[in-house]
Amino acid sequence: MPFTIEEVVAGGTCVGCGACSVATGGRIPVTIGRYGAPQARLDGVPAAARAVGSRVCPFSDDSPNEDVLADARFGQLPHDGRVGRFRAGYAARVTDEEFLLGSSSGGLTGWVTARLLERGEVDGVIHVGRSSEEGGALFEYQVSSTPAEVVAKRKSRYYATSFAEALASIRGREGRFAFVGVPCFVRAARAVAAQDPELNRRLAFYLGLVCGHLKTPGFAEALAWQLGVPPGELDEVDFRVKNPTRSASRYDFGARAQGASEMVTAATADLLGGSWGHGMFQLNACNYCDDIFAETADAVFGDAWLPRYVADYRGTNLVITRSPLIDAIIEDGLESGAIVGEALSVDDAAASQAANFRHRRDGLRVRLADDLRAGLPVPRKRVEPGYEGVPTQRLPLIRQRRAMSPISERALEEAKRSGRLGRFLRIMRREVMTYQRLEGKSLRTRLATFVRHTSVGRGLGV
Ligand SMILES: Cc1cc2nc3c(=O)[nH]c(=O)nc-3n(C[C@H](O)[C@H](O)[C@H](O)COP(=O)(O)OP(=O)(O)OC[C@H]3O[C@@H](n4cnc5c(N)ncnc54)[C@H](O)[C@@H]3O)c2cc1C
Ligand code: SF4
Ligand code: SF4
Repeated sequence: MPFTIEEVVAGGTCVGCGACSVATGGRIPVTIGRYGAPQARLDGVPAAARAVGSRVCPFSDDSPNEDVLADARFGQLPHDGRVGRFRAGYAARVTDEEFLLGSSSGGLTGWVTARLLERGEVDGVIHVGRSSEEGGALFEYQVSSTPAEVVAKRKSRYYATSFAEALASIRGREGRFAFVGVPCFVRAARAVAAQDPELNRRLAFYLGLVCGHLKTPGFAEALAWQLGVPPGELDEVDFRVKNPTRSASRYDFGARAQGASEMVTAATADLLGGSWGHGMFQLNACNYCDDIFAETADAVFGDAWLPRYVADYRGTNLVITRSPLIDAIIEDGLESGAIVGEALSVDDAAASQAANFRHRRDGLRVRLADDLRAGLPVPRKRVEPGYEGVPTQRLPLIRQRRAMSPISERALEEAKRSGRLGRFLRIMRREVMTYQRLEGKSLRTRLATFVRHTSVGRGLGV
């Protein structure tokens, strides 16, 4: 039986992108769900509208998958099973120090999108920036029309948003636009455009962000609370503060309370929930994803997490290009000195995302097989469900990681209800200890992690 939008929504694998809403002219509403992330709602939606939504939903078997969309666009380029189609690869960063320090990684996403505007290739960029809505979500999809606006919205937002309103807003508007998104959002936007001639004309470039997984707002709230900023007082977060005393991958998290002038910061990895391997606050959709390098995008930008680049705290991007124009913009930058960098092989690009491959290849096969065993429907993916070849000792680790996402949500709910962060910390410290035991970490390491997770807030009187 095909896995359609009904199964996506009922099974909690909706990523909240908003593609179904755009494709149906809003007949499928996307509203904030239990854990603060956007979710599609199908109650009362007629079957015909559901069918339209299902054809663009990135988790439905009715929509064209990454291979189909990428082949239609980049079919002439070589293909690699890990990164998809590719034209060129780079490890690079912008040379303007101020610009670089204000970006997440090497600054190339902000720089390339600003160049697209300056060169008149596009009239706007659709990407995620800080929301101005008081008391609502911290971030939202927005349309930027000038290079200054684009530059002001740099930095990674590990925060679930929907593109429904922003994408719908360019209908009937003059001009061409670049769309920036995580891989499933790019796939979804491409699928919408493939069915909608007007949006297809307007969306001229799709820029992807390499993606480990997406977080609900609980991630920002739990980390900020450990820094002394409780959820009700949280006004602003910065998920990627560069710290000159550490390597690029050991960045800080920053939070600012309402009315405060400064952010409080601490090493993300020292905060409980800050380790991406623990999967806290991960959207359930990400348990069913096999696209790491935004295979349907014209170019994809990530962090070059390789020893030779990571030592420089200022950050270095990995980039895979698929569009000759994006390639030419990067080559121009290298020639003019606006960018510094070198060619990066596909092997090195893949090696820089080793943990992502473990989660999205073996991990995905196991999760699909577990669901089938439990009698649950699963979406069709580009890996087969199964346990063969997965080391037996990894199975409980994969399952513990999966369990930790909903446990973290409920633990934070409990902490918010009681007004006591300690509830969250107690529950999740125990889960991390279990995870580390399954990883084979020594008792000494586990205790060191426990102490690290206990000490950050203490220094701030939390
Ligand atoms: C949820 C998520 C998970 C990620 N996981 C990984 C990973 O596992 N490995 C890895 O190498 N890289 C990952 N990245 C990408 C990485 O964090 C950087 O975003 C990327 O390297 C670009 O850095 P930059 O300096 O070029 O970007 P900047 O120049 O700082 O510009 C960032 C651009 O991205 C836009 N943007 C930020 N967040 C979002 C969002 N959620 N949706 C749409 N647009 C957005 C901004 O508006 C801005 O245009 C992830 C990004 C996100 C959002
Ligand atoms: S298209 Fe996006 S918002 Fe709609 S059901 Fe699918 S994942 Fe959810
Ligand atoms: S991990 Fe996959 S499903 Fe999750 S946000 Fe990233 S691209 Fe989308």
